Amino acid sequence: MEVATLAAAALAAAAPTGGEFEQVPIRDLQVPAASGEPAIRLLEHLPPDFRTVDLVHARRIVSAGLGGDGDELLASAQKLAELLQGSIGTTRPMVDEGRFPKERMVGQTGRTVAPDLYLALGLSGSPHHVAGIQGAGTIIAVNRDPRAPIFQFADTGYVADLRGGAAGARAPDRGMARWRLSSTPW
Ligand SMILES: Cc1cc2nc3c(=O)[nH]c(=O)nc-3n(C[C@H](O)[C@H](O)[C@H](O)COP(=O)(O)OP(=O)(O)OC[C@H]3O[C@@H](n4cnc5c(N)ncnc54)[C@H](O)[C@@H]3O)c2cc1C
Repeated sequence: MEVATLAAAALAAAAPTGGEFEQVPIRDLQVPAASGEPAIRLLEHLPPDFRTVDLVHARRIVSAGLGGDGDELLASAQKLAELLQGSIGTTRPMVDEGRFPKERMVGQTGRTVAPDLYLALGLSGSPHHVAGIQGAGTIIAVNRDPRAPIFQFADTGYVADLRGGAAGARAPDRGMARWRLSSTPW
């Protein structure tokens, strides 16, 4: 027996390519209700809470790594996530330190995410982490180390100290990194 598994949000939906399809007849079914009342009534529609939604479904993610640790920085990241109506993500060492629950972890052994916006704060961009953000739209990274690997995956990079300090923009080279990533046998 062979079993294949696929993480949700790992692949973008493919556009229909044509070809032959089996025509399935559509039949109207008359389902008699048990009484005059409908069996199910919609009382209220509650949209998912962006603060607690599963990261797999988050449209905006603010992710804090070890460089964003500290009560003050994490409070700022949380505030930023709320302003963006986004969710908080993180890296494995932060989970190991007990700063976040495991379901907030992004990466190979965490959640595979596909948000429109991924804000990477003080995380290095290890292969284990970036494996989980391949489906992200725009990636913006802030790191004080201009050589941090995350800059290779970012659309926009800021070399800056999250605790304050001079900032400079770094040119993105995401296309190159994506190529490297796809040819790296993890
Ligand atoms: C089997 C296995 C599976 C793993 N799976 C995962 C996974 O799914 N997800 C995951 O995330 N990790 C995973 N890891 C861990 C992974 O290899 C890395 O160790 C981890 O991603 C690094 O986390 P980090 O970027 O927060 O920390 P670091 O790599 O230590 O990076 C911290 C970054 O913060 C920057 N920084 C520090 N201070 C500041 C400051 N004041 N301002 C700005 N920047 C600053 C530094 O320059 C550095 O780049 C796994 C490891 C193993 C062995």
